[in-house]
Amino acid sequence: MEAQEVVYLPISQVAEVAYCPRNFYYRAVEKVDLTDARMAQGSIAERKRDTRATIMREGKLQVRSVTVSSETLGVIGVIDVLEEGEFPCPVEYKTGSADEGLYERVQLCLQAMCLEETLGRVIPYGYLYYAGSRRRVCVDFDHILREKTLECVSEARRLLDSPTRPEPVNDWRCPGCSLLPICMPSEDRFLDGAGPKPRKPLPSLGIERVLYVDEQGAYLRKDGSRLAVTKDGQTLASIPLAHVDQLVLAGNVNLSTPLLKHLLRYDVEVVLLNAYGKYEGRFTPELSKNSVLRLRQYERSRDELFRVQVAKGMVAGKVHNMRAFLMRGNRSRGSAELETSIQRLTALVPSVERAVNLETLLGLEGAASHAYFQGFAALLGKDVAFDFQKRTRRPPKDPVNALLSLGYTLLCTDCITAAQVAGLDPYVGFYHIPIHGRPALALDLMEEFRVVVVDSVVLALINKGSIRPDDFEEKYGGWFLTERGREKFYAAYGQRKNTEVTHPIFDYTLPYRRVLELQARLLSKVVMDDIPAYQAFVTR
Ligand code: SF4
Repeated sequence: MEAQEVVYLPISQVAEVAYCPRNFYYRAVEKVDLTDARMAQGSIAERKRDTRATIMREGKLQVRSVTVSSETLGVIGVIDVLEEGEFPCPVEYKTGSADEGLYERVQLCLQAMCLEETLGRVIPYGYLYYAGSRRRVCVDFDHILREKTLECVSEARRLLDSPTRPEPVNDWRCPGCSLLPICMPSEDRFLDGAGPKPRKPLPSLGIERVLYVDEQGAYLRKDGSRLAVTKDGQTLASIPLAHVDQLVLAGNVNLSTPLLKHLLRYDVEVVLLNAYGKYEGRFTPELSKNSVLRLRQYERSRDELFRVQVAKGMVAGKVHNMRAFLMRGNRSRGSAELETSIQRLTALVPSVERAVNLETLLGLEGAASHAYFQGFAALLGKDVAFDFQKRTRRPPKDPVNALLSLGYTLLCTDCITAAQVAGLDPYVGFYHIPIHGRPALALDLMEEFRVVVVDSVVLALINKGSIRPDDFEEKYGGWFLTERGREKFYAAYGQRKNTEVTHPIFDYTLPYRRVLELQARLLSKVVMDDIPAYQAFVTR
């Protein structure tokens, strides 16, 4: 029989168990990595320290970056400094200014236990060095710390095989935790009815600062630390690369391979639309290696009961937002058509709540959309040059439908991004059936946002006269925006995404682009059973 290979766990990861088992699970099992400023600072400081392998300090030889491991414990790590003296003494460098707790002592103790196994001698103590206060703290490796350290190792091994995330610790550790925007412990507690409304989350990876380029024939390249947009030998724009979070290219726009590589390396995704704004594909950096979540998502996408439960939340949210939008529009109009649509939507609400299968929900959603778009026509100003009878697509049969179609395409792109940022597969949905090449989950996520993000932009552009009939052209049996029309739409859509809105569940304000991401994260929590049900984003 072959000997079983030992799977070595990084010492720093095992020590995370002492800090928060959920944190360990995110990093070791789900491979989430959201390096925060403190950790980045630590690694920069580490790189600086590495420049000299050995030094003499107060007459003692110090050796830097010593790799240690233990076959018995199955752990491996690097000791920052090994100081020679009566015995080899491990010293761990920290960027902070004070003893931050058990986590650091467990890390140091594990390093010492590895040394003991290798050298066959006892290491009685080590040091934590705090760069912030330039203080050395002596840590005794007594039996209590050793027992705690061994507990962390066995708990880490147990968690590696566990299908479920540990509960959030939800205490003083969370505010300083780099995983807070992903873990959202306060939101979990609030949704479980066990805690107060949470405070606004820390900003995480943003999808703001989107650069749209739809100048046909343009060429984008890396020019030092800037992104240059050129055409026919002329530089049209030069933008610092550090200011770009997402690049959207529409139509015949090219970019150089060095630029593409640079963008992907720095987690900037590149989205490709065709000249009419239809989503064609994307280059995505490796944002999430969240395989546990994805496996669970695939499992749940085959669970009919789960799908109905999630889809109900989404359809209910969509119907609510349609109704609220028409009601707001009717405050100043007092239109009978609008009132009829509102009443029809109101009548559908209990049926959505009672629905027991996806077919029923699809039928109800279809009826709701029909009622809504009849009312939507009445929201267009009397003196505008556009007419709207009903929703048409592929191709849109009039300019209003052309605007709606372009808006939904952009929203779908943003929902794909939101799903990916949350670690979900955007192509495996719960409400929408997965069809080859269709981003079913993004379509699920966008249901509750269609009206509040896209339709409101379309209505404002038309009623304020910002978009005119000559911003459209009729071809291929449908209506499409001209280049100038698209520019106007992109600008208005971008503005809408940056509009701050109060989240109805948590009561803090966020721009819509962050709300998309938050909803995707809530959905991922439902998938992982962290929270019981999906609650859509609804307007008041
Ligand atoms: S936010 Fe809190 S519960 Fe979540 S991983 Fe961090 S410390 Fe643990």
